Amino acid sequence: MPQRVICQQCGCILHEGPELKPPDEILHMHNGKCPKCGKKLSLIPINVDVNPVK
Ligand SMILES: [Zn+2]
Repeated sequence: MPQRVICQQCGCILHEGPELKPPDEILHMHNGKCPKCGKKLSLIPINVDVNPVK
């Protein structure tokens, strides 16, 4: 199932793709913060939305 992870603060797409990535991998991709607004991303609970791509 496609996965889209969006920053709750600014709506920046942190990850979008056909494969599911674990939250910790997504955090590591962005050094633990949103690349756009700099919001610190916490692992548990991960403060992003995960929605299927329609
Ligand atoms: Zn952001």
